[in-house]
Formats: sequence, C-alpha cells, structure tokens
Amino acid sequence: MDEKNFWTRTTARTHKRHMLAAALFATLPVFSSPAIGGAIQQVSAQDGAIIVQFDDIVEKAAVFALTGPDRIAVDVSGAKAGFTVQPGGPVLNIRQGQYNAETARIVLDLAEPAIVTGGTFSADGKSLKLSLSSVARTAFSGAVGRGKTQIVPPMAFRAEPPKRRYEVTAPIRTNVAKGLPKISGPADASLPLVVIDAGHGGHDPGAISPHGGQREKEVTLAIAKAVRDEMLKSGRVRVALTRDNDKFVVLQDRYQIARKLNADLFISIHADSAENRQASGGTVYTLSEVASDREAQRLAARENKANIINGVNLGGADANVSSILIDLTQRETMNVSADFAKLLLREATPNMRIRGNSHRFASFIVLKAPDTPSVLFETGYLSNETDVSFLASSNGQQKVARAVANAIQVHFARRIATR
Ligand code: ZN
Repeated sequence: MDEKNFWTRTTARTHKRHMLAAALFATLPVFSSPAIGGAIQQVSAQDGAIIVQFDDIVEKAAVFALTGPDRIAVDVSGAKAGFTVQPGGPVLNIRQGQYNAETARIVLDLAEPAIVTGGTFSADGKSLKLSLSSVARTAFSGAVGRGKTQIVPPMAFRAEPPKRRYEVTAPIRTNVAKGLPKISGPADASLPLVVIDAGHGGHDPGAISPHGGQREKEVTLAIAKAVRDEMLKSGRVRVALTRDNDKFVVLQDRYQIARKLNADLFISIHADSAENRQASGGTVYTLSEVASDREAQRLAARENKANIINGVNLGGADANVSSILIDLTQRETMNVSADFAKLLLREATPNMRIRGNSHRFASFIVLKAPDTPSVLFETGYLSNETDVSFLASSNGQQKVARAVANAIQVHFARRIATR
C-alpha cells in the first residue's frame, strides 16, 4: 500500500468517526458468539501456488512480505492454526501459529525471493489459493514496502467477525473536528513548532499510582504545560498542546493535530506503571514495527489500548494499522526521531532518573505520523514511590520540563546549522 492510499484511507476513517461522534447511541448488550473458525487443515506450496485448506469458513486473509530472512506471512482471521504443511517450490519451510485469539498466522520461509501476485478463496470459502511468482530481489523489496494485501471470501461463505459482549458508541470530542489547538509563542510562522501531547485524558486515566492514587492523565498534563511554559521562555519556538484540559483525544487525532499544524516535532508524554515496584526512571521510545524488547512491545500494546472502550475501538482502526509495515519514506522521519531521542536522554540524565538502555522502540499508534519526527517519553513509573513523588511534584515537573526544553533547543539549533 503506498503512502497516498494509506492516508486517503485514514481520512475516510476519520470522517466516519466524526459522523459517529455526532450521535450518542444507546448501550446495547449483544450476545457473544463462540469463537469462530475455521481450523487450518493443510498448507502446501509448490511452484506457482500456495494452497491453504480450512475445515470451515473463515473471515478473511491478509498477505504480506518480510525480509531478513525473506518470507511471506498470511494472517487468517477467524481461523485456528493447524498442523499439516507441505513446503515446495521456492518455499523452504512453513510454520503456523496462533497470532491472537481470532487470527492464525502462517509464515513461509523462502529459498529465493518470491511474491504473492493474487489470491482467491474457493466458492465454498474453505480453501484459499495464492499465486506465487519468483522475482528479482528489487521486486521483493518493493512488495515488503507495500504492506498487507487483503483477500476476502465470497460473501455467503464468510465467517462473521467475533462479536463483543457489549458495544458502546460514545461521543468523541476531537480537536481535529472542532478546529486545531491554539499555538503559543511568537506569531512567526518561520519559527519551529513543537506539539506536546499529554498522554491519556477524560475517561482514560492511564496508569494509577498504588502509592497515592496519582493518575497518569493528570501527571502528563502538568508536565506538558510545564514543558510549554519552559519552551516559551526562549522565544524561539512555538508550542501547541494536543489537550490542555482533562479530555479524551483518540490516538490518531493526536498525531493528526501535529500533521495539520505542520509541526516540526511531536512529543508524547507518559508515565508508566509496572508490577515490579522497583522499576524506575524514564525511557524514550521511537516508532518501529519490531519492538526492541518484550517490555517495549507490551507497553505499546497497553498505550495503544487507550482508544478502546468496552471492546470498541474509538480510533476506528483495526489491528491492521499496528501491523502496516512502515514505508521507506518514513525513514528520514525515523532518523530525526532517533536523533532527538538521544538528545533528550542526554539532557534528561542530569535532571531526573533515566533507565539503562533507555532508547527503545515499538509500534505506538501515536507515533505513526509518516512526516513528523515523534518520540514518546515515558517519564518514569507511577508504581515506584520515588518516581511518583518526583513526577507529581512541581519541582519534578520543572526538571522534566527543563530537560525537554533544552533538548528541543539543541535539536533545532543543529537542524538549522545543517540546513
Ligand atoms: Zn501512558
């Protein structure tokens, strides 16, 4: 999928979401249906084709290519992983696993670059045939950049997606719908603009401290405001906040605000919580489809849940969004983000507690603007007694703000110097 289509789709979703937001629907309990599926009976590969057979109908399939090593992955929604595999043709080996409760993932390890050029379900919906062609490496790399291709069975033979027990549609107040937040600082559009995003808000408190009940949404808002005030002292940057009060903003709107304002930098402020109360210190995250470690992956999953109330995704995005492969066009943005992350850690170290190995990466929805350098700053742990008293105090918030403001100053000074 190219970048243009990706954004067109996002816009369409945003529009739909605003339409939904216009009305408040009653809460309707829906009977939950048992998990659907579709167990995979056999996966076989040969020259020219991959065939997947199911014992019942499934919802849909998504195919994508991955490198290092070269492989093709097939996610089948509404299916259970099975056992029998028969590699052949350019396919060396076939693996299967349950990706989540509703999705089975098949991974085909390739002996040589090959791509899926098309796919169809049989008329009864119980088998999927993918056309496979051996290609040059450049064509394979192109396929990796394109992300997922969806294949849907004929209507009459399509399993329903699993139903949630309750469905709730809540009115969503979005900045994007109602006009963009105000920009503070000099009225000079040539000055760099930084968007500070206070994590969580409204019905979503984020982490809650087991020590004094401090809530992440309040701590992040206080820090965001302190950062804004500290930055404005320099008179050399402009600042906007994604929220300046206790309201809920869906994750996609947070980065869309930065994009629409043409921001030069986006910083999302958070304060995590961990079962291990000894865990302490700040960490800076940047975007990557592949998480740096298990903990970063779990954290991203937790933060990405901010969009979900009672099983309904207010972001209007399905799980595919988090697995869309990052396009190469994002590489420059990612490099600038990584440079800023290092700088922020350098400036933060004398001011506050910072963890070892403190630049990590994972697939955070809020960092997905393809053209705005973005970092997520987990300022510390509300589950740690020392961290929470620091982060909830105005002295601590001042120190965090100074660190962020210093890093921003150096960042833009460098960017201007190398222009
Ligand atoms: Zn958070």
